Amino acid sequence: MAADPNCIFCKIAAGQIPAKKVYEDNEIIAFHDIHPWAPVHILLIPKQHIESMVDVTEADAALLGRMMAISPRLLRDLGVTNGFRHVVNTGRDGLQEVMHLHVHAMGGPRPWLKG
Ligand code: AMP
Ligand code: ZN
Repeated sequence: MAADPNCIFCKIAAGQIPAKKVYEDNEIIAFHDIHPWAPVHILLIPKQHIESMVDVTEADAALLGRMMAISPRLLRDLGVTNGFRHVVNTGRDGLQEVMHLHVHAMGGPRPWLKG
């Protein structure tokens, strides 16, 4: 699906609601999580509305690969120097709250709030 009018991350991707963006290209946006668990906590999302990892197929390999591949540079640019953590929550049992695929990328000195 191109965009879901009720989806908060589609609205961020479309610039309809504000976010602290750290990266954008034609397929991907990255922005700061509104409730960070760590000193640096960004979310990488596809602009296209993919609900979750359940909907991902091999056709999405390049997109997902790029989301992961971009993140180390973004974290480095945000001052993360001592390692980081990626999390992808999927579905209800996976504790996914926002049903638009996103990769959490977190770093910065411990202790963290969560994770
Ligand atoms: P998840 O449980 O993996 O679905 O996590 C969703 C994440 O999105 C949470 O960490 C929220 O703090 C974050 N979040 C929700 N709404 C916004 C928003 N408008 N801007 C930035 N982050 C958000
Ligand atoms: Zn969406």
